Amino acid sequence: MSITDNITNLKTELDRVNVTLVAVSKTKPITDLQEAYDAGQRIFGENQVQEMVEKYEQLPKDIEWHLIGHLQTNKVKYIAPFVSMIQSVDSMKLLLEINKQAAKNHRVIDCLLQVYIADEDTKYGLGFDEVIELLRSEEFAQLHNVRIRGLMGIATNTDNEKQIKEEFYELDTFFDGITQSFFRKDDNFDTLSMGMSSDYKIAIEQGSTMVRMGSTIFGGRVYPVPSGVKLQGPGKTDMPDIQDI
Ligand SMILES: *Cc1c(COP(=O)(O)O)cnc(C)c1O
Repeated sequence: MSITDNITNLKTELDRVNVTLVAVSKTKPITDLQEAYDAGQRIFGENQVQEMVEKYEQLPKDIEWHLIGHLQTNKVKYIAPFVSMIQSVDSMKLLLEINKQAAKNHRVIDCLLQVYIADEDTKYGLGFDEVIELLRSEEFAQLHNVRIRGLMGIATNTDNEKQIKEEFYELDTFFDGITQSFFRKDDNFDTLSMGMSSDYKIAIEQGSTMVRMGSTIFGGRVYPVPSGVKLQGPGKTDMPDIQDI
């Protein structure tokens, strides 16, 4: 199916349950993003600063750009003028820098705290206790140019649906607890970003309000192979094939 069909079908499915779609367009060419845009998609997710900046410059200005990958503090300044949401806040140091750069641009930048829920070494994120510590800190109370809109989590990359379900359940429960403890009077703390192409249905069952989907919309990603490396088969993809929905 075409990108247009994929966007149309997904929107219908997600609108019914009031879940927001972030179209994850990392590694994909401008033409693919333009097609999704023409099909009505306005929120795009990227995980690399330079790629996001290049795409921002070439595409319509009513797109909302979400940064979803690990962000180095020295790169915040490049996206601070335009980014809509930073979903991958994983340290107080990073939040301080986002606040500083947002202030320079006379903006308030929406952020999600990325919470570590996976049973893997490779995923970034704060532990449950670290989230609480951050929200309780006096430093945090002084930040006026960031707005914490909610939490983001990535489940373990596994076929074990029960495990994925438990990880999302835990994050949803934690989200409710944090809402009660810290954001009871703040209607803006409303976003629980969990679920990607392989697990979004489970995530929605467990209370997700925002899904980040790439391969279901744009097809599998092929990463460039470093020069000098002999290819045995096709380039490395992180999804075996294009999923039909
Ligand atoms: C790449 C990525 C996604 C989308 O992955 P798909 O499997 O293509 O849907 C979602 N979230 C994050 C943080 C990502 O890096």
